[in-house]
Amino acid sequence: MPDSAAPVTWPEGNTPLVERDAVREFTGVRRLSLKHEGMNPTGSFKDRGMTVAVTDAVRCGARAVACASTGNTAASLAAYAAHARIPALVLVPRGNVAAGKLAQATAYGARTLLVNGDFDACLTLARDASRTLGVYLANSVNPWRLEGQKTIVWELLEQLEWRPPDWIALPAGALGNTAAFGKALREARALGLITTVPRILAVQAAGAAPFARGFAHGFTDRVTVRAETVATAIRIGDPASWDRAVRTIRETDGIVTMVTDSDIMEAKAVLDGSGVGCEPASAASVAGVRALAERGVIASDAHVVCVLTGHVLKDPDAVSSYHAGDSKRANPPIQVEPTLDEVERVLRAT
Ligand SMILES: *Cc1c(COP(=O)(O)O)cnc(C)c1O
Repeated sequence: MPDSAAPVTWPEGNTPLVERDAVREFTGVRRLSLKHEGMNPTGSFKDRGMTVAVTDAVRCGARAVACASTGNTAASLAAYAAHARIPALVLVPRGNVAAGKLAQATAYGARTLLVNGDFDACLTLARDASRTLGVYLANSVNPWRLEGQKTIVWELLEQLEWRPPDWIALPAGALGNTAAFGKALREARALGLITTVPRILAVQAAGAAPFARGFAHGFTDRVTVRAETVATAIRIGDPASWDRAVRTIRETDGIVTMVTDSDIMEAKAVLDGSGVGCEPASAASVAGVRALAERGVIASDAHVVCVLTGHVLKDPDAVSSYHAGDSKRANPPIQVEPTLDEVERVLRAT
């Protein structure tokens, strides 16, 4: 095999499927599993698609790769481009990228552009740059990315010995993953690997919910909004994979819902406090399951898999501001003098 066809791989995938009683109690769903995509090499599911896209960039002889990103795509592209030894240009919205992600992009050596604009402006700029400057575009509009992301679904089905869950819940931003999940299920069924198809639950943040609004109106129109949410990974107002994601929801009898930022941060506190941990956007999946279980849409004895899309260390500021505030589950660090008395005082109050 010529060098240019060798996969650019970390490797990625083989993430754990775990169960935690605290999360089951919180959602009211007894059979709930967590597929932790934050356990990928750069800490998010983006690595699953990036291995394919950067392999293709090398095969094409691209002189550079580029992406617009809310952070995780940038971190992932930076790492895979470094591995392939090709320059990477990442465009991120200034002031709205979590600290861990920005640190990764710069550390892995990508040229990092802090754009005075939101993610949607970054994507327009990245598309124009790739068209006119001949740079390989690694956003999820790149079909290879979605081909790689299908493995999340195949892998979790394999982990369940090909007995599909009733629901798969995931956070939804640009809708690349929602699109990839639908395609993975369609292909798994066509191949006879499964005979029933899980329902997809796509969960958006209330301040960035164009897809949920579209769903509420039967997807008659394509909706765009000005996005605002603490969950920066899904702070997207004009999702690129809209049509493909609509197909996923229709084919799986899926649902799109939205949850508030405070619902997201409470679900995150439960996930974090269970020792699993994830970034804010990931917790939207669990917040969404809780909301639909409360409304009786998801039965308490249904089998649900929530996809945790990113690692807890991606967004340390979200953690500290939650725990510094007067939130329900706040666990602020305590300053003490170096005496045993003070330690004992804390222990007694625990
Ligand atoms: C990219 C990302 C999402 C959103 O996925 P889309 O494919 O854009 O819908 C959600 N969570 C995390 C952590 C992400 O990095």
